[in-house]
Amino acid sequence: MNPTIVADVVRVLEAWAPPSLAMEGDRIGLQVGRMDKPVHRVAVALDPYPAVVDEALSAGADLLVTHHALIYRPLHRIDTGTARGRALARALAADLAVFNAHTNLDIAPGGVNDVLAERLGLTNVEILDRIANEQLRKLVVFVPTDHHEAVLQAVCSAGAGHIGAYSHCTFNTPGTGTFLPGEGTKPFIGSPGKLEWTAETRLETVVPERLVEPVIRAMLAAHPYEEVAYDLYPLEIMGKPYGIGRVGQLANPQPLHAFAQTVRDRLGLAHIRYSGRADCVVRRVAVLGGSGGRWVPHALRAGADVLVTSDCDHHTVAEAWQDGLAVVDATHAALERPVLERVAERIREGCGGSVDVWVCAGPEDPFHWV
Ligand SMILES: [Zn+2]
Repeated sequence: MNPTIVADVVRVLEAWAPPSLAMEGDRIGLQVGRMDKPVHRVAVALDPYPAVVDEALSAGADLLVTHHALIYRPLHRIDTGTARGRALARALAADLAVFNAHTNLDIAPGGVNDVLAERLGLTNVEILDRIANEQLRKLVVFVPTDHHEAVLQAVCSAGAGHIGAYSHCTFNTPGTGTFLPGEGTKPFIGSPGKLEWTAETRLETVVPERLVEPVIRAMLAAHPYEEVAYDLYPLEIMGKPYGIGRVGQLANPQPLHAFAQTVRDRLGLAHIRYSGRADCVVRRVAVLGGSGGRWVPHALRAGADVLVTSDCDHHTVAEAWQDGLAVVDATHAALERPVLERVAERIREGCGGSVDVWVCAGPEDPFHWV
């Protein structure tokens, strides 16, 4: 078996949080290292600070996966007198690959914001700010009849054929395929130089753009032919929506003060701050992991009673209150740390247990409370 390499881990993460979902100007992907490097151990962390790089290296990591970028603003020099420069220098010196998924992980289904909504117990969760719809492709493949079900199962297991809550949605038409094997071929059916007429099924199904590569790989692995005849074409219909932030209902509405305490406890914080009338009842909650002040208008339009986010300034919070929206302002780290365990699980599952993955203890939340 080939060893797992950085590209395998990247493929797993990008099938979940495709780079195409990232917001404009974001810096994501492999920032240090090379794609063909073998990987045995993967460290996952929120920020690639020097202490985190050290923690990853001392535990034998070959790859560090973070949410925030190591290189975000344009890099004019590597000043090893700064934390960022030191982290970069250490990663390069020890050949530690560094990869990050940022706004693409915020937006991805099951990413930062869905994990946060789940942590706060929200139900009927919807997207707060719709950004795009998933692009869809139609896959058509011609399969000899006796391999039809194997290929169907393979492509559907890799993610093709999902429509709403239905899986394995395909259409299958029996027919006859022809081919004439050329010189030097090893045909599965027939022999070189002789025109072959074979009972085949035209299998067609829908594939989200982000899963085209694994679906085609699964299809080729299950198909018996040396050369597989298939078509892939773009569809005009819209796939499921993608967007940042989530909004949902509280199963048990709570007064704002008690709700803020719940958020504090569920995020493992010692304290939390909030704005709004302490006794107003919270039924509908908007969440946005990271700096979410800009999404106050979206939360208001979505009918939320409160926005749970971080890094809010006076004007944002004061005006939101005047407009009837309470704000629970947690810390940026507390909102985004919960997704890290999911990132580790995805890598573990996606790489078939061939790599050790763990979430780093650091970095600590930069905010302390007195
Ligand atoms: Zn963040």
